[in-house]
Amino acid sequence: MPTGKVYLVGAGPGDPKLITVRGLEALQRSEVVVYDRLAGPQLLNRIPDHVERIYVGKRPDRHTMKQEEINRLLVDLALQGKTVCRLKGGDPTVFGRVGEEAGLLRQHGIDYEIVPGITSAIAVPAYAGIPVTHRELASSFSVVTGHESPDKLDRSIQWDKVTNATGTLLFLMGVAKIGYISEQLIRYGRPPETSVALVRWGTRAEQATLVGTLADIEAKVKEANFQPPAVIVVGDVVKQREELQWIERKPLFGRRVLVTRARSQASELADRIDELGGEPYEFPVIETRLPERPEAVQAIREALACAEAYDLVVLTSVNGVEYFFRWLERTGTDIRRFHKAEFAAVGPKTAEALRARGITPCPLPEKFHAESLLDSLGGRVKAGQKALLPRGDLARELLPKELGALGVEAVSVDVYETVPTGRKDEFLLELLREGGIHAVTFTSSSTVTNLIEALKGMGEEAPAELLAGAKLVCIGPITAKTAEKYGLSVAACSEASTIDGLVQTLIDSL
Ligand code: SAH
Repeated sequence: MPTGKVYLVGAGPGDPKLITVRGLEALQRSEVVVYDRLAGPQLLNRIPDHVERIYVGKRPDRHTMKQEEINRLLVDLALQGKTVCRLKGGDPTVFGRVGEEAGLLRQHGIDYEIVPGITSAIAVPAYAGIPVTHRELASSFSVVTGHESPDKLDRSIQWDKVTNATGTLLFLMGVAKIGYISEQLIRYGRPPETSVALVRWGTRAEQATLVGTLADIEAKVKEANFQPPAVIVVGDVVKQREELQWIERKPLFGRRVLVTRARSQASELADRIDELGGEPYEFPVIETRLPERPEAVQAIREALACAEAYDLVVLTSVNGVEYFFRWLERTGTDIRRFHKAEFAAVGPKTAEALRARGITPCPLPEKFHAESLLDSLGGRVKAGQKALLPRGDLARELLPKELGALGVEAVSVDVYETVPTGRKDEFLLELLREGGIHAVTFTSSSTVTNLIEALKGMGEEAPAELLAGAKLVCIGPITAKTAEKYGLSVAACSEASTIDGLVQTLIDSL
């Protein structure tokens, strides 16, 4: 068997978007991912479900893997012929022990690549509005470990040099030693009033910053019970924060929002939350796919075979549009055969999707429900006409019924079906239990049903209780009703069934 390859990848400081393009490529190409606590669990949502994930970080209930065991694991996996991604927080060469991992791989003749990442030493201060260098304040910086016990620290750190040689000092792994570190810096010549900042969980929803001076920072850390992991920044650049802090000023800063939307559509909502300074946690509970059952396929083929006969084609979602066109392609049906038909779209996004394909839909109803569509179609359709309704298997029955009542022959076909993703996510459960999810968004009734089912599938017996700690925000009254049916207490519900409406409601309720 040919041996595999190991990518030693820097995941960045936590925000999953702060991985490099090369790192993401390596991650997506791998068959096994070996990761720990600092390498954002959310990155794991970017890889296919079948990829093996091995957690080697600290766990309260289990034995923690020693570095030698991790080195060995990488070798063993590669010898089995696997492509492995060893995902490490920040940059792999900055206190990442990549040397030991690469060293053993080399000894075994295993091919590896080191993919640098954005180190927390720089990124975490940046997210707190602290630049590590500054034209007037600091022309150099040092990154120092604070991990060892004081006697070892004294052996590995030459305090006189560290203190005096450079501008900004950055200590990683130093929260527990903050007293000793400040003491040494004062002893070797930094003024006690030197500014210090501790930035915990930078780039994540838990980001928090504590500012003080060498003289008082230890007391402040104790008083606030300030916990690691944090980057400690020492020097005048800390003061820049008063002016330059940025993410903390955004409306959703510090809020982690669960996005349950269908896999194909998750990113738009997630991107909006991200732009507003929040941390989206994507957990796609449903996905859409082409129906495979022969009866369903037959029904679509028959419906498309008489394209010339339709007076109206009503599309009720972006998915409906996408899949409708996929079927046209699959069945070799030319769109021009619908020459008699007007196209109608429910909702602005659906209309946009049609326009993107060169079809101008008839004017939109004001509110985006099937009911209001009927109101505005009322004047256009006549008894004896024929309408095609390509939709998902969950679209409601109302529209065809009402069209039927107007004497219109409505042909509904399920051009796509919605199925649960069946994904399991231990980190999500942990976050929900710890109150680490501040809001949950539901963008359709099926996301409600399927989140509840997914939580049950992960062994949660009382999903409604688990969700009670988060603000539940729904995209419109129908979704809210479904949520209430499951015993969920809905914090807010947008009036319009649009992402814009949902995002505004989210901001208002957090
Ligand atoms: N290779 C990593 C550092 C590993 S040492 C890097 O380049 O970032 C682990 C230390 O990094 C932690 O103790 C903490 O000091 C720092 N750290 C990593 N991620 C952090 C984050 N998101 N916020 C604050 N500190 C972080």
